[in-house]
Amino acid sequence: MSAADAVTDSLNRMRAEFGDLPGGRPADYIPQLGLADPDAFGLALVSMDGHSYSAGEADVPFTIQSVSKPFIYALALSVLGLDEVSRWVGAEPSGDAFNAISLEPGTGRPANAMVNAGAIVTTALIPDTPGEPAFDRILRCLGRFAGRELDVDEEVFTSESMTGDRNRALAYLIRATGTMPVDPVLAVDRYFRQCAVRVTAVDLATMAATLAYGGLNPVTRDQVVSPEVAARVLAVMATCGMYDGSGEWLLRIGLPAKSGVSGGLIAVGPARFGLATYSPPLDTAGNSVRGQAALRALSERYGLHLMLNP
Ligand code: GLU
Repeated sequence: MSAADAVTDSLNRMRAEFGDLPGGRPADYIPQLGLADPDAFGLALVSMDGHSYSAGEADVPFTIQSVSKPFIYALALSVLGLDEVSRWVGAEPSGDAFNAISLEPGTGRPANAMVNAGAIVTTALIPDTPGEPAFDRILRCLGRFAGRELDVDEEVFTSESMTGDRNRALAYLIRATGTMPVDPVLAVDRYFRQCAVRVTAVDLATMAATLAYGGLNPVTRDQVVSPEVAARVLAVMATCGMYDGSGEWLLRIGLPAKSGVSGGLIAVGPARFGLATYSPPLDTAGNSVRGQAALRALSERYGLHLMLNP
C-alpha cells in the first residue's frame, strides 16, 4: 500500500470504528444547529505537500462556529500585533465553559480568545479599512486559510442572532469593564456572522494545515499569516482550544486543537499535518464525541503527541 493509501485507509478505519460511538447530542441552543444529521461523520487530513485525504462526510457543509476563533485571533495578531491584542484579550486557560463570564479580575480582559468572551472582543478588534468592511476582511481571511471563497449560512446566522442573548449580555458586560473596542451590538452581530461561515471538514483540515505550515497554505501556497503569528495561535490553541477540556486534551492527545458547537474539530501537527473531523453530537464540554475519539485514537496509534515526537 502506498503512503497516501495508508493515510486514507487510517481515516476510513477511524470512521468505521467510531461512527457508531454512542453519546452526546447536537447543540440545539442555536435552534438551526439542532437540525444537523447526527450520523454525519467526516474526517480529513492535509499534509505539508498540499495533499488532502478524506473519509466519510468530509464534503458536507456546516457552520464553522468556534473553530473560526483561532483564525480571527491570527488576523488580529497580524493586523495589530501581540502587544496591542494582549491589552484587550488574555492568554490564560479559563477552566470554564465556552460561554462563561471569563473576565480577569482587575483588568476585566476576557481570559483568552478561544472562549466566547475573548472571541467577541477579538472579532471587534478587526478594523474596517477604506476599501473593505471588517466582516469582509474576516470572511476573506477565513477563505485564504481554507484556500477557497467561503460564504455565510444566513439561516444559522439568523437563528443564532434571535437566540444569542447570552453572548449579547457578555458583550455588554465586557463594555462595562472597559475592554470592548466597538459597540456591543455591532461586535456580536459580526461574531454571529463569523460563526455562521460555511465550511467542510476538508476546508478545516486545510485551515489547520496552514497553521501547521507556519501560516503558509500548503494547497494554494498563499502566505496567509507570518510563522510567528501561526506559532502564537497554536500556543493558545494548545492551552485553551478545547474549553474546560483543554488540559485533559493536551495530556492525552497532545496536539493544539479547536472545537466548535456545530461538531467541527481541528488538530494541528506542527510542520506535519492539519486534521479535521465533523460529527455533530457533543459532550457536556461542547466537544464532538466521535471527533475526539477518532483524534485520540490517531494520536495514540501514530505517536502524534507533541511531547513524545516534537
Ligand atoms: N456561535 C457559538 C456561540 O457563540 C459558538 C460557540 C462554539 O462553537 O463553541 O455560542
